[in-house]
Amino acid sequence: MSAARKRFPPSADYPNLSKHNNHMARALTEDIYARLRDVSTPSGFTLDEVIQTGVDNPGHPFIMTVGAVAGDEETYDVFADLLDPIIESRHGGFQKTDAHRTDLNADKLIGGDENDLDPHYVLSSRVRTGRSIRGLSLPPKCSRAERRRVEAIVVDALSELDGDFTGHYYPLATMTTTEQEHLIADHFLFDKPVSPLLTSAGMARDWPDARGIWHNAAKNFLVWINEEDHMRVIAMQNGGDMRAVFARFCDGLRRVEESIKARGREFMWNERLGYVLTCPSNLGTGLRAGVHVKLPLLSAHERFDEVLGNLRLQKRGTGGVDTASEGGVFDVSNADRLGWSEVELVQMVIDGVKLLVQMEKTLEKGESLEEMIPSPIVRSAQ
Ligand code: ADP
Ligand code: MG
Repeated sequence: MSAARKRFPPSADYPNLSKHNNHMARALTEDIYARLRDVSTPSGFTLDEVIQTGVDNPGHPFIMTVGAVAGDEETYDVFADLLDPIIESRHGGFQKTDAHRTDLNADKLIGGDENDLDPHYVLSSRVRTGRSIRGLSLPPKCSRAERRRVEAIVVDALSELDGDFTGHYYPLATMTTTEQEHLIADHFLFDKPVSPLLTSAGMARDWPDARGIWHNAAKNFLVWINEEDHMRVIAMQNGGDMRAVFARFCDGLRRVEESIKARGREFMWNERLGYVLTCPSNLGTGLRAGVHVKLPLLSAHERFDEVLGNLRLQKRGTGGVDTASEGGVFDVSNADRLGWSEVELVQMVIDGVKLLVQMEKTLEKGESLEEMIPSPIVRSAQ
């Protein structure tokens, strides 16, 4: 504990959250703060580091943010009194007694190819998740040495992949600005660390050291290294064939995991929370399956947000989480990560986006949506 800490009681340090609208601000009581202020995880991550991003960013214009991050795997245990209520409110009532389920069998999907997702409307399809290497701190906390170790392990593991998955690693530090800008503009690479959500959480420290992107020749299977998570694994392609994208995602992810394991490493995982990642919003599957979809009429309709909410879908702008929509094209993806399996989440996106496109076509004909408004999807008890 620092000397300043010892001189002041926790009540004097409690953050002013009066203007805040994020999950952390709702969950952090003075009592929890008082109990946990002087506690830290084995790697030295503190409550103030957990909440700093949420304190500095009272709200977000487009999504309800979490406002808390993990610095290591133990963060979720040590600060459970704060993080469990956040997890519960962010993940639709997920309880301490609930358990995560993993299902990466793409054959179980129903439909989901371009017969279902009309490529005139569905411009591109993408599935991503994150994975963390056990034993190394997460991006908000890791030292330069740990970050470089993550990069070395992952790049080495990826160099084993063969066939359609043969690829190359492109470190950010040696990439030209033009190359980087092209990759960002084509939606392959993470943005520069401009998001205050990232910088306030300490995830942009030492940028661009040990960050980079690995991708196969076809650029339809990609791995980001040391952005918000140790790894982000992504499958994507143009058009609406979400089924093919998810199949490639599952296949590639399995190969990556085998290769990591062959190096004596494993992913952070536990039965309750599934895959452990930096942001509590990504626990469980860590999966975000999304499409860029053209919905100029529906998105201007007064019930658009209600329809998305009922379908458990989230909208973003097409340039990523910090951007607004342009020309009626939205990034529409599953809102949930935890409490549903990967297959269930992708199915929800397929079914939901199919309906959104049908609604757009109905509006084009000048007809009413009244009969088409879906009722809310509710998670069944497990
Ligand atoms: P993530 O949840 O993967 O971090 P972001 O909102 O930060 O997503 O966006 C990361 C990048 O991925 C952005 O460049 C965004 O345009 C791109 N992207 C997201 N979804 C799609 C999609 N369905 N098709 C094409 N690009 C996408
Ligand atoms: Mg992101």
